[in-house]
Amino acid sequence: MKNYDSCVTENDNEEDLRHKLETTLKKYDSVVNHADILVFECSLIKKTVTITSNLSNNLLFAADFCISLDEFINSDIIDEKDKNIVLSVPEKLRVIKATFASINVKNDNGEYVRFEAYFYGVYNDDGELTDIVGSAKDCEKKTVPPCEDKENDKLTGLLGNDCFYHNIDDILRNELDKRFSLIMIGVSGFNYISQLYGADFSDKVLRYIAFKLKKLEIFKDALITYFANDSFAVFVDTDIDLEILGFIEKIKQGISMYRHIPLKYTFGIYKSERKAVSARVICDCANIAKESVKGHHLNNAAFYSDGMRERIIEDINIENEMEKALSSGQFEMFLQPKYDISESRIVGAEALVRWNHPYKGFITPDTFIPLFERNGFVIKLDTYIWEQACKTIKRWHDMGYEPIPLSVNVSRVNVSNPYTMQTLNDLVEKYGIEKKNLELEITETVYYDDQISLIKVLSELKSEGYTLLMDDFGSGFSSLNMLKNTPFDVLKIDRKFLNETMMTEKGKKIIRHTISLSNDIGLDIVAEGVETKQQADFLLESGCHTAQGYYYSKPVDISSFEKLIGYC
Ligand code: C2E
Ligand code: CA
Ligand code: CA
Repeated sequence: MKNYDSCVTENDNEEDLRHKLETTLKKYDSVVNHADILVFECSLIKKTVTITSNLSNNLLFAADFCISLDEFINSDIIDEKDKNIVLSVPEKLRVIKATFASINVKNDNGEYVRFEAYFYGVYNDDGELTDIVGSAKDCEKKTVPPCEDKENDKLTGLLGNDCFYHNIDDILRNELDKRFSLIMIGVSGFNYISQLYGADFSDKVLRYIAFKLKKLEIFKDALITYFANDSFAVFVDTDIDLEILGFIEKIKQGISMYRHIPLKYTFGIYKSERKAVSARVICDCANIAKESVKGHHLNNAAFYSDGMRERIIEDINIENEMEKALSSGQFEMFLQPKYDISESRIVGAEALVRWNHPYKGFITPDTFIPLFERNGFVIKLDTYIWEQACKTIKRWHDMGYEPIPLSVNVSRVNVSNPYTMQTLNDLVEKYGIEKKNLELEITETVYYDDQISLIKVLSELKSEGYTLLMDDFGSGFSSLNMLKNTPFDVLKIDRKFLNETMMTEKGKKIIRHTISLSNDIGLDIVAEGVETKQQADFLLESGCHTAQGYYYSKPVDISSFEKLIGYC
């Protein structure tokens, strides 16, 4: 019989080696997935740190991720007072082959938890230390008591969390090939229900949903728990999309009202993959998927993908860095010119933020603006960019040029911020510039929210003297009819709308009519994302005189912009 244990011998052929490598990796996976430890690897050559783990009580580490050694050392993952211990590890490993240390590591709650870490050196043929590998265990983690009481959640009468995890882990351990899904169900706007009607009432809502979930009996033998705050988790033994989506539909229809309160939900689904994962991690993943659809108006369910977890880790990193990045000037204002099509002359520019990150280089706003809109930081960032724009207009004025207008983006968060107008007025006054030179771009999608207060805010800004541009027209559900009721001065045709619609003759007609109708109701038009001469010609023929896009120029830094326009 062939020897397939993982010890490598001199007689091994290539197939043996491959098999042994695979066996070793599987063993490694099974340890990492079940032993509640984190495993790390640090390359002293590439200067990177890779962490693989299943510490489900600690989201930061409940994933595989790789960062630069500098970033790791400079971050606050390791308690400041323990950094010297970590920094001394390579020296120790140059003398002895292994070492041990007790260090405090930050968890998701921002608390430092004591970890016991074992470090092993890896050496090249010359005996030089090239890598450090090892594992660490959370010493403060409490062990889960065995599951005795089946229905032990006092509030809902559902299976308690620990039992829920325990039962799932048991099932997965005993049935390795089991196909399953975990559906995380969030009650939308639950916080508002608590605030409006009080804790007793919202407890009743939760009890009602729990009762109905048990009664629905869509899947036999489903395990159900009240997960936390506004969420329930349901473990079902199918991973067929249609069945899961049918289940979701039945929840939406079957539990749609409690007394006079309509109930709406968001859903996150984790489907079985052929790899060992613990129940806690499965719940975390489904929860991440659920969170990803919060605030989306058209989509209320998402299947988990590894990219979502990476995005969350990326978001955590961004949040840790954003304040410092702003105060140390890492955010820069770029300008993209707007051209008069017939004269090929610059008539304005849009201010677009770029994050000039010390390790990652220039990062484009799509990576961080949505996060900043969720955490509110966009208020500070927008103000910073508005100030850069005002400063630039003043500088041009001081240089003796008649400044061209700069348009700045006003995030949806700032549209509903009562201090926005004051902030803008203060900046305009501070730099002594004219309001007409600072134009405000407001995205069409703010229309999903409260339209009445939106019109009020916009009217106030307009009567103060600012020019208002409706950004991304055509990307959502905007209609020209709606524009009649709002005080916009300029309509910016969305890049995707332009590109996709221009593909067909019918689409071209739609654009032509959009342009002539908006001209009719006194709106100027700027076409965004113009990439070809053919597009520019078509727009001009159709009555649109201003264009912005790569055909003319990409967004550039201020000094390049000044060269373009001839302010030197
Ligand atoms: P936006 O306001 O619609 O800005 C136009 C985006 O289209 C810019 O992307 C620009 O670089 C890109 N673009 C322009 N012409 C072309 C073209 O011909 N082809 C292609 N493929 N793309 C073109 P960017 O700079 O990555 O900005 C993305 C979005 O981030 C912006 O979309 C805006 O919504 C937001 N944003 C940028 N700066 C700020 C800011 O300071 N504050 C806020 N709140 N949002 C900002
Ligand atoms: Ca814009
Ligand atoms: Ca746009």
